[in-house]
Order: sequence, then C-alpha cells, then structure tokens
Amino acid sequence: MAKAQQTLTFYQSVENYFEKAAPHTGLDRGLLDQIKVCNSIYAIHFPVEIRDPKTGKTSVKVFEGYRVQHSHHRLPTKGGIRFSNHVNQDEVMALATLMSYKCAIVHVPFGGAKGGVKVSPKDYDEETLEKITRRYTYELVRRNFIGPSIDVPAPDYGTGEREMAWILDTYRTLRENELDAAGCVTGKPVNQFGIRGRTEATGRGVFYGLRQACDHVEDMKKLKLSPGIAGKRMVIQGFGNVGTYSAQISQGEGDALIIAVGEHDGYIYDEKGIDIQKLIAVKKETGSIMNYPASFKSKPEDREKVLELECDILVPAALEEVINVNNAKNIKAKIIGEAANGPITSVAEEILLKKGILIIPDVYLNAGGVTVSYFEWLKNLSHMRFGRMDKRYRQQGREGIIGLVESMVGRKVPEDMVHKFVKGADEVDLVRSGLEESMINSYNITRNIMKEKNIDMRTAAFVNAVQLIGQDYQSMGIFP
Ligand code: GLU
Repeated sequence: MAKAQQTLTFYQSVENYFEKAAPHTGLDRGLLDQIKVCNSIYAIHFPVEIRDPKTGKTSVKVFEGYRVQHSHHRLPTKGGIRFSNHVNQDEVMALATLMSYKCAIVHVPFGGAKGGVKVSPKDYDEETLEKITRRYTYELVRRNFIGPSIDVPAPDYGTGEREMAWILDTYRTLRENELDAAGCVTGKPVNQFGIRGRTEATGRGVFYGLRQACDHVEDMKKLKLSPGIAGKRMVIQGFGNVGTYSAQISQGEGDALIIAVGEHDGYIYDEKGIDIQKLIAVKKETGSIMNYPASFKSKPEDREKVLELECDILVPAALEEVINVNNAKNIKAKIIGEAANGPITSVAEEILLKKGILIIPDVYLNAGGVTVSYFEWLKNLSHMRFGRMDKRYRQQGREGIIGLVESMVGRKVPEDMVHKFVKGADEVDLVRSGLEESMINSYNITRNIMKEKNIDMRTAAFVNAVQLIGQDYQSMGIFP
C-alpha cells in the first residue's frame, strides 16, 4: 500500500510511485515484489589517510560507502557513484531503484544500481579524493560489485570523469589481463576509453525531452501554452553538470528563454533572459553565478524561492526532495522537467498534479546520461570508435551522388553544400543522433500509456518500466 504520511524517506517516496503504478501493470503481486525490492545492498566502512589542506597534517578517517544493485533482470547493473555528505543507505537504495526503471524506459539493457560515499569533495584536496576513490573501488572489486559484465558505475552528483579514470585505473591494476576492463565504468575521459558527448548527455537528453513535450500541440493547449520550446520561460535550479548543459542546449538549440538560475548561494533572475554562455564564464572566473549582472539577485537564504517563480518550465537539476510538502502549493510553473533524480516527493506530487502541472519524470527525462553510458560501454566492448568503419565509405558514396548530379545538370554544387551533405558522421554525431532517437521514442511511448490509461506521466513511466522488467522475469521462467 502507498504510504501517506507527510515525512517519507526518499526510498519510501519511490515505493509510493511504484505502488501507484502497480495496479495498472496487470502483474502478479509476487512478481511485483521481486521487481520492487533492492536485490543486493553492500554497505562498507573503509579507512583513508587524509591530509589537512591547511596544516598539512595527516590522520586516518573512516568513510562510509554503499553500492546497491536494485535489479539483476539484465546484466550488468548500472548507475552512478555519488560523493556527498548526504549519502545514506536509503538514498542509494532509492537512486538504484530509479536506475532500473530509467534503463527500461530508454531501452538500455541494464539492471539498476547506485553507489555513494559520504564525503563532501570540497573538504578535501585532489590527492585525498583520489585515495578515497581508489579505496572504494578496491572494496567493490573485492566483493565482485564492479566489472564490465557485473556492475558498471558512472558519474553522479560530486563525481566526474576524473573519478571515473581513477576507478578504471584501480580496476585494471587489480584485474590485469581482463580484455574488456575498460567497460568496468563509464563517463571516462575521452582519452581514457570514454566517448564523445557523454559529459553533456544528461543535459542534452533533458533538452530533447522538453522539446518533445512542448511539440505536442494538444498538451500545450491544455496548459495554455503555445507549442514549441522556443521562447518558453525556463527556470533552472542547480548549475552543475546537468543544469548547465540543460540550460545551455535549451537556449542554444531550442531558443528557450532562461529567466532564472539558482544555486546554493542564491538565485539570479532576469525577465529579458540570462545569457548562459556568459553565466558559465562568470561562474568559472569567480566561482559563483551570483556575480552575473542580472536585474535581480536573491539573498543566499532565499535560494529555494527560485523554485516558486512564475514560469513555463521549471527544471530542478540538483538534488532530491527539493519540492516537498512545504513548498508544493507555491509552485507556479506549468511544466516541471525533472533533470535531477527524485526532486519531487510523492506527497508533493499529488499537490502539483491537482494544480494541473505537467511533470516530466526523472526516470525518463534524465535518462540521457545512462543512454550515452550504454554507447560508451558498447564502444569499450567492441574496442572501436563509432563511425570508424563506415564514415569514409558513406562520404565517398555521397561524393559520387553529388558528382552524378553535377554532371547531369552541368553545374557545380556550391562548396558549403557539398560539405554539409557529404560529411560522414563522427562519433559525437552518432552519439547525439542515438540519444535524440531514444528520447523522442521513449517520450511518445510514455505519453501514449499516459493517455490510454488516463494517468499522470510518472505513473505511466513506472507502468512501462515495471511491465518491461516483468517481461524479462517472465521470460526467465521464474514467474508465470
Ligand atoms: N548518474 C547518472 C544517472 O543518475 C548516470 C548513470 C550512468 O550513466 O550509469 O542517471
């Protein structure tokens, strides 16, 4: 049964979403229970010698870490590793569960997993962070919780390609002769077996998803909005990797108007629109978005008010549970695009749905990251860059067609047009095209379920995911 109390943990909130979807799946309770539970939970404590950056003194600190594999219906399991002071078992379980559904929704053939270390990266120097990452990886290897066919981590909040490179290096040191070792982790630097387009992938996926939502004329009409993402007034909460790319690509390729951006030290607002390229430069130079010359800047303590601004699209792109029972009634957005994992609690969602807000759920909208992780993993297993075999072949074929057209019409095709049509696809072109295809298809499938069953979009996404995972279990012959 769905839990109704107002103070739920993140995992209980995810359980509520599951239970809301369960009756629409037509699956037996035994199978539903198997899909719902977290299969394996590994909790560890490990010591690391740390150095105080100020005094240079060393001491040993014990860190708390987790890796949760939610579902093994497909292998490997997949999901990021988070470094944050808020990490706890409940959070990692919730995030691992969301990963299973996310993978199913975008047809990425993995089970879900997630890892976390309770550490705030800004409290330590690079050397200490490297030690923590390597020691955590060692613990995963020791317990068989990592490997290209077992469980494949990736970046998440507080980690990036630097940490992924350390993970790969540690894994390879311990598993010296493993041919596919590079596939033990994704989100690696391009020169360390990574793939072009992975860093921006989650944000780019958010853009494709929002654009697809805005292109449905009927749905926009219901929200009293014009179709298309161009000109939509957007608010971004969180300006880390996901928030930055969501904003940059929505503005650069979709012509969305970003009217506000919020971070931990406040938010900036400008009805004329914020130049995201400039904002990125300001943050890089000064360390804070608050130095951008916006028409309004909030006080640090009002940072959460950014969520309550009047806008067309609100994009929470930081951490979970930011829209909860305390502020749900104040939300004025017409569309909420969940770029973060779990930004809306299940109790808050009921309030928002009653207000008629279209919520595009995390399990679909931020699946761009894992989609491109899948491409990276495939690249690692094939030991070859995408496009290597056929780029030139296709280019030559097109040159032949242009030559034929020129000889038939007796005129030269202009040089810039030749370049545009002839150019074969590079790896990044293929990655973007594969990502765009996944995001468009999955949106339409989810929307169809939503319409057909007259349910909200998150419930539809969960119904889709649970049914797909259920089919996998049924085909194994364990469940009727
Ligand atoms: N951490 C990302 C997520 O939550 C990416 C996971 C992955 O690529 O495995 O979806």
